[in-house]
Amino acid sequence: MAHKYSLTDDQVPRHWYNIAADLPSMPPPPLHPGTGQPLGPDDLAPLFPMALIGQEVSAERMIPIPDPVRDVLAMWRPTPLYRADKLEAALGTDCRIFYKYEGVSPAGSHKPNTAIPQAWYNQQEGVTRIATETGAGQWGSALSFAGAQFGLEIKVYQVRASYDAKPYRRAMIETWGGEVVASPSPDTNAGRAILETDPGCPGSLGIAISEAVEDAATRDDTKYALGSVLNHVLMHQTVIGQEAQEQLRALDAYPDVVVGCVGGGSNFAGIAFPFLADKIAGRDIRVVAAEPAACPTLTRGHYGYDFGDTAQLTPLLPMHTLGHGFIPAPIHSGGLRYHGAAPLVSHLLNLGLIEAVAYPQRECFAEAVRFARTEGIIPAPEPTHAIRAVIAEVERAKEEGVVKTILFNLCGHGNFDLTAYDAYFAGTMEDIELPEAELDEAAKALEGMPAIA
Ligand SMILES: *Cc1c(COP(=O)(O)O)cnc(C)c1O
Repeated sequence: MAHKYSLTDDQVPRHWYNIAADLPSMPPPPLHPGTGQPLGPDDLAPLFPMALIGQEVSAERMIPIPDPVRDVLAMWRPTPLYRADKLEAALGTDCRIFYKYEGVSPAGSHKPNTAIPQAWYNQQEGVTRIATETGAGQWGSALSFAGAQFGLEIKVYQVRASYDAKPYRRAMIETWGGEVVASPSPDTNAGRAILETDPGCPGSLGIAISEAVEDAATRDDTKYALGSVLNHVLMHQTVIGQEAQEQLRALDAYPDVVVGCVGGGSNFAGIAFPFLADKIAGRDIRVVAAEPAACPTLTRGHYGYDFGDTAQLTPLLPMHTLGHGFIPAPIHSGGLRYHGAAPLVSHLLNLGLIEAVAYPQRECFAEAVRFARTEGIIPAPEPTHAIRAVIAEVERAKEEGVVKTILFNLCGHGNFDLTAYDAYFAGTMEDIELPEAELDEAAKALEGMPAIA
């Protein structure tokens, strides 16, 4: 039985898939934070190049990938699809488990799939510097890699908890030529304000976004880039699912269940959206989003308008959110510590086209260790949640007395996250209780937000 299914360089997808073209209804529009009116292209122009703003609102179903972008993607794409036959054997299941492996990119995650086009479109429009935030450092390192490819200066605001816990990502950012500071930082008004009241603040993605947006909005040579959440970012990731479809077609296989972990929603979108096109067209599949119990945006959040950041600088986005002031516990999945979920992913959940589950981190790592001992690859902390959800699907299939084909996205390797495995083996990794009262308190930030029509 084959274990690995590869495509050739000329099979790197030529288009991105824009799910907006197929949705039965559109998500509500983002709103201007000052006026409460739907956002226009001019509102976003200080932050993003026009080409990306165009993609953000596009209704075109397939958007061509420019050749210079495809050339760089081909450094590691197409990524392999693996049959997890050794894991299947260890589980004693007849279910077929496949995973798409995004850890083969230079940065070790799916993030370069969007960092490369974002850097390229900026460079095409004369931008010379990009400011951004990063959690665990995957996005900061991916953008730094992209900056090196296209000659752009990169400034990264990294969440303090991760900056301290993951020094090697910092080194990667610097190796590719980017500059990185711990957030909250003394470099911005937003950062200074927080440091004044809470000098030991562990930071959050919301705070780091505030800093990066402020940086970009106050400098002429600088724009902002986001590693997740926005429509164009999710769309750039659809090369993952398109390749997986091609690889599975060659095997005459099709998944009954597609699984991805969700922080902002981009790697999930990448694997799931091309399959959701089939589901919207009538195909009977389930699509499962897996999130951490310590930051349960989709399973316990409120659906409504909220700011993307803590300092309330961003537009209001319609999303499942815990409230923009929610600071998640410093779990090891830095990339899943975001208070909201992408508007498109939130909307798909409301439409019943996807399901969401949440797991505490220890049982996720237990399954990740089993995965590493069978399949070899050490998963990043984030996709351990997807692996936990896959195990739940295998158990469910057994209970139902059926055999299923399951596909998940192994969105990154854990080679720079070994402190998390250290904590797991030392028994110091904690599961975070998140009482309803704490969520209610955080949700107060949502009072007075515009209602969704
Ligand atoms: C950033 C990151 C995530 C979380 O972001 P999404 O937009 O939800 O994909 C998950 N896994 C890895 C490996 C990441 O780098």
